[in-house]
Amino acid sequence: MRSFTYERVTDPRMACAEAATQRNSKFICGGTNLIDLMKLEIERPAHLIDISRLPLTAIEELPDGHLGIGASARNSDVAANPIVRTRYPVLAEALLAGASGQLRNRASVGGNLMQRTRCHYFYDTAADCNKRQPGAGCAALNGANRTHAILGASDACIATHPSDMAVALTALGATVSLLSPQTSTRTVSIGEFYRPPGTTPHIETVLAANELITSVILPPQPSGRQRYRKVRDRASYEFALVSVAVILATEGDTITEARVALGGVAHKPWRSAEAEAALMGRPAIPSTYQAAADIAVEGAVGCGENDFKIELARNALRRTLADVVAMTGRRPS
Ligand code: SF4
Repeated sequence: MRSFTYERVTDPRMACAEAATQRNSKFICGGTNLIDLMKLEIERPAHLIDISRLPLTAIEELPDGHLGIGASARNSDVAANPIVRTRYPVLAEALLAGASGQLRNRASVGGNLMQRTRCHYFYDTAADCNKRQPGAGCAALNGANRTHAILGASDACIATHPSDMAVALTALGATVSLLSPQTSTRTVSIGEFYRPPGTTPHIETVLAANELITSVILPPQPSGRQRYRKVRDRASYEFALVSVAVILATEGDTITEARVALGGVAHKPWRSAEAEAALMGRPAIPSTYQAAADIAVEGAVGCGENDFKIELARNALRRTLADVVAMTGRRPS
């Protein structure tokens, strides 16, 4: 690991101001991904700004019925929060499906959003990787790509985003609040927060230079039931091959509300508006789930080893839709 300087800040504006004045600086909160990347010299900041003591840990109801979650809130605290557990169980389930208890106790909400891909070539500094070194090529395209993207990838990068939390936030329609060094604030929908890989896979989000994530805002509780399903190679401490976040409401036999997001399949949490449209107003029966699952993976492309993920994603979504309807008491015929 290379030497670096370090400071701890206690005010969000001070954090942004310091980032703007310090050359090659990085924010650090839980450090559960950044420290690993620094040890491998994939990240080489000259200066670390510790934001773990910022007053951004609150999880609080807002006057308009939204829920604000501070960017420094620990993943385990969010998962255990009574409001999250009762109104946004899909988020609690996704958080508890991620990493390990120890890591969740350290990892922050902002850091979870900003974590980097777990593509093994990204972590192997001897391998070609456009995300680590723009223009170098992509070793995964013709290499070990079993865990890689099937949707939204480019010739430059087929990596996936590893977050479970972000998949649930996408289904919930969350927004991300940002603070700039000029002390201006803005919000970005979670769907717009992540950039497509295109020809610049090293630029992963729309965060401007030295902008700080201050909170995540959840809309009021959606109607219906929620479920997060994660399919992985082992039962814990493993990233998703495929995951599914579903929010579904029914009236009688008819689906009246549908939100679908997939994880482990793309460079970002993948909301499927097409699958949602295929569910809305349709009867809650297996053929509807199958049609939605087929549409969700329409256009999906494998690179060889990851071809199986297309069928896996289809089946995971179909099964989760059936599960959610069963939760409402309306069992598939
Ligand atoms: Fe790098 Fe992306 Fe290719 Fe992995 S898939 S080697 S992260 S460019």
